[in-house]
This record gives sequence, structure tokens and C-alpha cells, in this order.
Amino acid sequence: MINIEMIKDLTDAFGPSGFEEEVVKVIAKHSMDMDIANDAMNNVYVRLDGAVKDILTDTSARNGRKKPVILLDAHTDECGFMVQCIHENGMLSMVTLGGIDLTNIPAHTVWIRTRDGRKVRGITTSRPVHFMTDKDKSAPLDIQGIFIDVGASSKKEVQELGIRVGDPAVPDVAFSYEEDRELLFGKAFDNRMGCACILHTMYALKELHEELAVDVVGGFAAQEEVGTRGASVTAAQVQPDLAIVFEGSPADDFYYGKEKSQGALGNGTQIRCMDVSYITNPAFLDYAHELADKKQIKYQDTVRRGGSTNAGKISLAGRAVPVLVLGIPSRYVHTHYNFAKKEDIENTVKLAVEVIRNLDADRIKKLLHQNLI
Ligand SMILES: [Zn+2]
Repeated sequence: MINIEMIKDLTDAFGPSGFEEEVVKVIAKHSMDMDIANDAMNNVYVRLDGAVKDILTDTSARNGRKKPVILLDAHTDECGFMVQCIHENGMLSMVTLGGIDLTNIPAHTVWIRTRDGRKVRGITTSRPVHFMTDKDKSAPLDIQGIFIDVGASSKKEVQELGIRVGDPAVPDVAFSYEEDRELLFGKAFDNRMGCACILHTMYALKELHEELAVDVVGGFAAQEEVGTRGASVTAAQVQPDLAIVFEGSPADDFYYGKEKSQGALGNGTQIRCMDVSYITNPAFLDYAHELADKKQIKYQDTVRRGGSTNAGKISLAGRAVPVLVLGIPSRYVHTHYNFAKKEDIENTVKLAVEVIRNLDADRIKKLLHQNLI
């Protein structure tokens, strides 16, 4: 059921915050015959039933809607870098796009994309151990002490490669899949896993769309890693009544024991109860639990001490929008290399599909008003 080739296409795509064009193209390639559109900041909209343009309008169109709209959200961008300066010796300074711990940057390789679309491989480097004093060894890393080396010896040589200040870069990692262990390896699982979940959920609902009580719209949002920016636009454009946010969210089982872990590989979809940006609507949470139990879909409840998702923006879009946040536990997100399990993707999609299929007028009313008054 899970399309591994599509996940390969999505995770291998070059797409740091603000430069998501390749991801947009991959989504278009895998959107089958659903209607699709993009905007000026690389947000992408896909609609299960009908034309996207009919949904992306102002409030006057909202009144004409036949069904409440559910937005399926995932962000398309990944953490990456931008060339900040080209030095006379051919080394490049950079800034980070998104939250990358500096200790995870040196001694890896990256791809820099030039304005004409060429990709140049570079090594991220800090002062080599051979040239370190004792004081250097104990000093904390500073982004200004980390460089990208493209193997050049002068600024001119770098410029001849087509590299300019402002060019984006991402980790250089190729996706692979180990069938026996159903184990996925690659980069950008945060959040190409979420993108894959939107597409799979929409594929699964395709034949049923006429019976659904809701109009299903996929919103692939740019620039999440730099402050959930794309979702401000997608939420304003779609004006959803309900939403599901998919995230390749941090696995924690490699440093928490079994008892404390809330993001173990192979333990199912993570139903997020809260994080810094959003406290999950309790009626939506109850509904998700009820269905997961009934349909025997594996899940793990997650209360995050930190972190935030597009749910923070979507839940506040114009009026209170109940949002369900589902995570695919992914190891080492915001670093070069990630692991995830196929069954966790399957369980995430299954739950999303059941949530949408089982919505009816009563349930929607309950989610929107909690039957309080
Ligand atoms: Zn993310």
C-alpha cells in the first residue's frame, strides 16, 4: 500500500526552506489526476473533488461551499543552509535554514544549488584537529567557524562553478529501503513523510469522495522550519473547518527507555496531545482514540515538552479550527540521516483515512462546538 518510490522521490528532492521547487514538482508528479495548484511561495494545494481554484478564495466563496472543508497539512521544506559569503581562499561561509544543532554540521557533505540549477558537492568543515590548540578543542562551535569546501582554492574558482552568495544547500544523502526490516533511510523525513501521508490518504479516499461528509484539500506548506510561514498562507487560503497535520516527528526511543518513550519506531502513529504551539482539541482527540481502538490501529500518545507544528497557525486561522496532529516517528530529524518504519506510515494513513471516512454531520458539529451549548 505504501509507495516507496514516491517516498524516495520526496525525500531525495532538494528543498530547504524557501527553495521547495523540486518538492512541488514531485508532489505534482504523484498527484495522479487530482486538481493541483501552487502559489508564489511554493505552497501546493491538491483537491480530491473539484477544482482547487474554487476553494482558494475569500470568505464570500465560503458560503457557497457544499461541504465543510478538511485541510490535510504537511510542510515541504527541510532544514538546510544558505551561502553567506565566498572567501578569497575559496571557502564558503553559511547560515542555517531551520533549527540545526551546530555540532551536527561539520564533517558531512552537502549539495549547493546554483542559480542555473547545477548542484555542486561540498564538505562541511571546521578547524581540523591537527590545527587545534587545547583551548580550541574545548571551545563551543560557532557557525562562523564552519565552512563549506567545494574543493576550490580561490573565490574565482568558486564563482566559475556558478556559486553565488544566497545559494541554498541541503544534506547530501540518498534514500534507501531495507525490505526485510521495512526500514527507510534518508534525509528530510521531517517532513516529506508528512507529504507522503497526505498523498496516500487522498489516494485511499479517491473512490469514496462522493460519500464523504467533507471536502478534502491537501495543503503542502513551504517554510515551516523557519517559523511555520507557509501554513499562515495555506490556512488563510483554504479556510478549513477541520485539519489534520502530518509530521515526521522526532523519535525518542534511542535515548528514553521503553516506559518513557512516546515516539518509538514501529509503535504506530503518534497522536500528539500537545506541544508548544497547540493543545489538541479534546473532542478531536477522543474521536481519534475511539477510531484507532475500534479499528485496531497502532498508536502512541505524545505530549511534547517542546516543538511546534503548523497546527499552531492553522488552529488560529480566522476562527477556531480543530486540528489533529499525527506523527511518523523518525530518528534524528534535523540532522543529515533519518530512519523510519513503513508500518508507522501505514498506521498514520489508516487513522487519517478512518477519521475522514467516519465524519458525519453530528460528529462535525461535536468537533466544532463540543456540544457544550
Ligand atoms: Zn517538521
